[in-house]
Amino acid sequence: MKEMLTWRQVIAQQWFLSRFCFKHAPGFMAYHLFEAVKLQVSIFFEFTFAMNYVLTVAEEGGDFRKVLWCMGILMAAIAVSTVTFAIYKHYVFPRGKQTLYQALRLEIYEKAKEIDLSCYDDKDFYENFILATEETDRCLDRFLVFETSIIARSVGLVCTIIFCAYINPVALLVMVAALPFELLCVLQENKKTVEVRMERLPYEQQREYGNRVFYLSDYAAELRLYPQMKEKCRRDYAEENQKMEAVNKKYGKKLFAYGVLREGLLARLVKDGAVWTLLLYQMLVLRVLSGAQLVTSRACMWRGSNYIEIVIASLRNVAENSAYIYKIREFLQMESTIVSERNEMLPEGSGSLLIEHVDFGYLPGQQVLNDVTLSVEPGQKIALVGYNGSGKTTLVKLLLRLYDPDSGKIWYHGNDIRDYQVMAYRRSIGSVFQDFKIYAATLKENVLMDVEDGSREESYLVEQALYDAHFTLEDNRLSYQIETPLTTEFEKDGINLSGGEAQKVAIARTLYRKQNLIIMDEPSSALDPLAEYRLNQELNEIAKDKTVIFISHRLSTVRDADCIYMMEKGRIVESGTHEELLMRDGKYAAMWKIQAGLYADALA
Ligand code: ADP
Repeated sequence: MKEMLTWRQVIAQQWFLSRFCFKHAPGFMAYHLFEAVKLQVSIFFEFTFAMNYVLTVAEEGGDFRKVLWCMGILMAAIAVSTVTFAIYKHYVFPRGKQTLYQALRLEIYEKAKEIDLSCYDDKDFYENFILATEETDRCLDRFLVFETSIIARSVGLVCTIIFCAYINPVALLVMVAALPFELLCVLQENKKTVEVRMERLPYEQQREYGNRVFYLSDYAAELRLYPQMKEKCRRDYAEENQKMEAVNKKYGKKLFAYGVLREGLLARLVKDGAVWTLLLYQMLVLRVLSGAQLVTSRACMWRGSNYIEIVIASLRNVAENSAYIYKIREFLQMESTIVSERNEMLPEGSGSLLIEHVDFGYLPGQQVLNDVTLSVEPGQKIALVGYNGSGKTTLVKLLLRLYDPDSGKIWYHGNDIRDYQVMAYRRSIGSVFQDFKIYAATLKENVLMDVEDGSREESYLVEQALYDAHFTLEDNRLSYQIETPLTTEFEKDGINLSGGEAQKVAIARTLYRKQNLIIMDEPSSALDPLAEYRLNQELNEIAKDKTVIFISHRLSTVRDADCIYMMEKGRIVESGTHEELLMRDGKYAAMWKIQAGLYADALA
């Protein structure tokens, strides 16, 4: 993550995540803080307070029973603390953490469902979004470690300071005076570690890429066909490792020298030397310090500077974590621009559709659709044809309100589609896209794509839709019929469908819903010509009374359409029936001839 936040922004992010955590898991958060603070306070009591008490009693030749009492209380506290910690570690923490992971992820998923598709076209947004979502769990983990650590250690520090002020105020003054030095050392060390990390980062990313290529199944088949690429990836991986080794070497000497200087010379000789001299001077020369106070003062000073070091070091982690929280918040605050202007209800039944002078581009200055106008009457079958990239799918995306036109309007049932409730409008259209997905769920859930009511009728309708889409349920692999899990992602008895079978499931989704307007974008491209022909005949029959918009680059599948629109470079260049367009002998006819020729060649 490149940008660094100001401290004000860092605090705002921390405040946001704290509120989020306390809202979703208040009991867990309270317990979590209690345990962290308890640990520091108990360390203080055991190693400072109790130690001072016991040594003072010993020094003054006091009653041994006092020492036993003190030890007894301490042991009892430790025993109780061990039990509360065990409950925290084994029950509270794993559950609480999962609750928070889930709450944050669900908010992100909810937002991801809502935001405009256009956001995915913005490369910066997309990269940040991926980064932020990948980091959600780690973000919470870091929050629970570092932020809590700062709070708990700050409490420990305050106890230590108060006690030190009581025992030996001069020692406290020395501790405070050493503060700028401590700060400088920690910041320097942080700087060095960040430098090393930044220099290693590009090599790590490259290595990560190599890792992915070797373990992801997406690459497995191709790497077997093109072993040279595997060899190249292996070489790159080894090279990146060497580069990282060089970075380690380059910084290794510096960090070693720095460590010796800081840890050995400065910290041990100068600082600790000065502290011991002061304490011994107070005890032996000034005689203002007892042996117990000397030991306790030293312990206080050591703990105090240790707390300060850790708190400062944690601040850097907190700042870094805030940058991720910032990205997550940015995402959660995004608002969809595709909203309903009037929240109107959609009329029942089929309606006419009119696309009027529509212009559109995904990116500014890159026009994909130019002044597109076409109309579809209820029950009509129209086809959009044209070469790849001519804008057919884009037009369909506008129809489904996945994007809004830059100018021009789309009317359905006589109203601007922007007036309808967005989800109700989208659900009123059945669509099959080229890049449909099969989900790791049962066959039935893949057709329903919605909450099941579990009724017999529902199952029957799913089977009917699959049957109409020519999906054979007699397949031996379907051990549980429509309840068979698809994909082998999670279920070992799940099945993977072929491209054609998957396409039939996607078609069944649309047939199940029985919408009045159906859009099919290359619905049968993965089928062989005979299966395609049969399915198309069937679809024509099923969709007899429906309005159908059909996209295909195989012209043989669209020749029966009531009207064919030929698109080129985002414009409608010709329209009419198949016969009319052949008679015109224009671009459609040319495309038809080429395809007819190809088929003739293929048959020859
Ligand atoms: P067709 O369906 O006719 O093959 P598309 O509508 O998919 O054509 O694409 C039309 C043009 O829009 C192409 O030049 C394509 O590269 C571009 N395009 C499609 N999707 C996007 C997108 N998400 N972002 C930017 N350009 C896109």
